[in-house]
Amino acid sequence: RLERYAALRDVPTVTKDGIPIELHLNAGLLVDLPHIEETGATGIGLFRTELQFMIASAFPRTNEQLKLYRSVLDAAGERPVVFRTLDIGGDKVLPYMRAIEEENPALGWRAIRLGLDRPGLLRSQIRALLRAATGRELRLIFPMVSAVDEFDRAHHIVERELTHLRRHGHGLPERVLVGVMLEVPALLFQLDLLFSRVDFASVGSNDLVQFLYAADRGNPRVADRFDALAPAALRALKMIIDKAAEYGKPVTLCGELASRPLEALALAAIGYRKLSVSPASYGPVKAMLLELDLAAASAFVEPLLGLRGEVASLRPQLAAFAEKA
Ligand code: PEP
Ligand code: MG
Repeated sequence: RLERYAALRDVPTVTKDGIPIELHLNAGLLVDLPHIEETGATGIGLFRTELQFMIASAFPRTNEQLKLYRSVLDAAGERPVVFRTLDIGGDKVLPYMRAIEEENPALGWRAIRLGLDRPGLLRSQIRALLRAATGRELRLIFPMVSAVDEFDRAHHIVERELTHLRRHGHGLPERVLVGVMLEVPALLFQLDLLFSRVDFASVGSNDLVQFLYAADRGNPRVADRFDALAPAALRALKMIIDKAAEYGKPVTLCGELASRPLEALALAAIGYRKLSVSPASYGPVKAMLLELDLAAASAFVEPLLGLRGEVASLRPQLAAFAEKA
C-alpha cells in the first residue's frame, strides 16, 4: 500500500472527471518537513507554530522561532506555507507558562484572545515570521478568531511590524497574505464582512465541529456522538465555501475531517477544492480523489443536504456511493 502511495507522488491530484484538487500537508515540527518531498504535497496548508513552544522547556526565543520558520520555508521551496500564529490554551498547554485556572479551557483565554491581550508574545512571533520570509511570500492565519474586530486587531499588529522592519532597514517579505482560521461558529454569521477583509481562510473543522455540537473533541464519550457528515454540519461547511466563492477568497479545510477519505469525498462534493491533511493520510486521500467522479458525487450529495428528512448522518449513503464508484 505504501509503495502504491509512493508511486502516486508525482501524479497531479485531479479527480477522475478532471477537477484539480489542491492537497496540502499539516505540519508543525522539523520532523514533518521530509513529508513534503515524500508526498509531493502542493504545500503546507497548516503549520501549527505552537508545537515548537509545547516541546520546549521555556519560551523559544525570537531567533529560535525565526530559525524554525526559515527551515520550513526552505523545505517547502516554491510551495506555499500557511503559518498559524500561536494557538495555546484549551487542549494546548505550555508546561512553563503559569497555568490559569479556568472552568472551561476550550472556551477560555486561548489562541488569538491571549495573543491580543499579551501582544508582546504575538508581536515577537510575527516579527520572527516576517523576517524568516524575507524576499519570499508569507501566509499567516490567526486561530480561534470569533469576531471580525479580532482579525482587524491582529492584522494591525502585522502592519505595525512591517513598518518597524521597514524603518530599521530590514528586508521584507515579497508579499504578505493574512487570513483566519474559521473554527468558531459565530464567524459563520459574519462571513460577508470577514471575506471582504481577509486574503484567505482555513476551516478548522476539529474546533468548528466541537463548537457546533457543543461536544468536547477530546472526550470520547461525546466526541463521536455527533457526525460531521450530518446534513446540518455539511450545510454549515457548504455555507462557508459558497460565500468564499462569492468573494473570490481561497478557503482550505485543514481539520482532521479532510484526512479521512469518505469525509474528504463529502467535502469535495460540497465544493472544497483545497484540503490540508496529516502526512499519514496524504496517500489514502489522494488515491480516493484520483478515483472520484466529482460531478456525480456532487449530484448525489446536494439533494441529501435538504432540510426534509433530516438524518443524523449521511455516512451510510456516502459509503454506499463510494462503494459503487
Ligand atoms: C482545527 O481546529 O480543526 C485545527 C485544524 O486546528 P487544531 O486541531 O490545531 O485546533
Ligand atoms: Mg483549532
